[in-house]
Amino acid sequence: MPPFSSTQLFQTTASHLPPLLRPLSPSAPLSPLPQPKLLRRSLKLPLRVRSLDAAQPYDYEAQLRSHFHESSSLKIAILGFGNFGQFLAKTFLSQGHTILAHSRSDYSAAAADLGVAFYRDPHDLCEQHPEVVLLSTSILSTERVLRSIPFQRLRRSTLFVDVLSVKEFPRDLLLKFLPAEFDVLCTHPMFGPESGRHSWAGLSFVYDRVRIGDDESRVDRCEKFLDIFAREGCRMVEMSCAEHDRHAAGSQFVTHTVGRVLEKFGLESSPINTKGYETLLELVENTSGDSFDLYYGLFLYNDNAMEQLQRLDMAFKSIQNELFGRLHQIYRKQLLGNMEGARESGMTKSMVQKLLSNGAPPHTEAPSDPDITT
Ligand code: NAP
Repeated sequence: MPPFSSTQLFQTTASHLPPLLRPLSPSAPLSPLPQPKLLRRSLKLPLRVRSLDAAQPYDYEAQLRSHFHESSSLKIAILGFGNFGQFLAKTFLSQGHTILAHSRSDYSAAAADLGVAFYRDPHDLCEQHPEVVLLSTSILSTERVLRSIPFQRLRRSTLFVDVLSVKEFPRDLLLKFLPAEFDVLCTHPMFGPESGRHSWAGLSFVYDRVRIGDDESRVDRCEKFLDIFAREGCRMVEMSCAEHDRHAAGSQFVTHTVGRVLEKFGLESSPINTKGYETLLELVENTSGDSFDLYYGLFLYNDNAMEQLQRLDMAFKSIQNELFGRLHQIYRKQLLGNMEGARESGMTKSMVQKLLSNGAPPHTEAPSDPDITT
């Protein structure tokens, strides 16, 4: 068989290449017509790779994907695998992060269902060298849990993140207990398993980079973690822990308190719910799922909570006083023998007396009237 001529060889090989990769034939006569600038330039260029699919080893894209995955995914250890820890784990997993967990209770079965590696012993978990350790324990148990972590088994540089609903308290504990080489990111996702059940889009995520080393890899790690929430569409709010606690006492603590009061009150759906009433029912549903430990933690470890509770109490009493004050005026007219006002308001004497016998609050300020002797 005669050997291939270089032109034949060229044509045979080139015909197997996708059009963009085919080099120009060496024997192809150059067109005498003026060429567009770009085309002319490309004629002078040597063979260039234009399609990764064709020119790279078949698994190149897979390698790229895996490299991208490795570079953007984190190994996150969740300490406290209760209600909120499991809720966070689901989204972390859906973004391709590797999740390990440890908790006081045995959550092996729940963890296996989710695809999380559960470690009963914190030593075993730390020996897996997670890049991020996320604290999702109750506010009340934070110090106890921190004291039980074998820091010496972790990498010298590890990022500690907390998601507690108060911020100054864990910040101080983390700075006190963690080795100085560890990074500290204090966060508060302002939503929970109920409010964030369908999506985190538009929900606030508060964070404070309390101590992040200058090293590029440490800055990167912190950004990767924050990116989990940004990718879900959270409203990212950078704020100091102190500022967070000031705002949260006036909003979150009050929300939880009113939700719990209404729950005790026994709010029930009716066939004629108004929009406002639906909102109250939703509030009860959102807050009743949270543990009392959580609520108590909001109260005990936020310096501003007591003041808010007192203000709420005063506001309730003031509304009560306003109502009873008006009622008192009707009663006074009754005493004076003038039932006109009461009749106008559709109340009978017995109704007024019944209401009054239920007891006006002690601070009710009855308008002073020298004519009344009670
Ligand atoms: P939680 O009652 O505040 O905390 C439950 C977690 O704390 C469980 O993992 C539990 O472990 C652990 N724990 C409780 N006492 C412990 C102790 N003595 N020793 C060791 N671990 C203990 O309920 P949560 O809703 O899961 O909240 C977890 C954290 O997330 C809290 O700090 C909370 O403020 C914060 N957070 C919650 C929400 C929310 O909507 N739920 C939203 C934002 C932030 P075991 O289950 O193993 O007993």
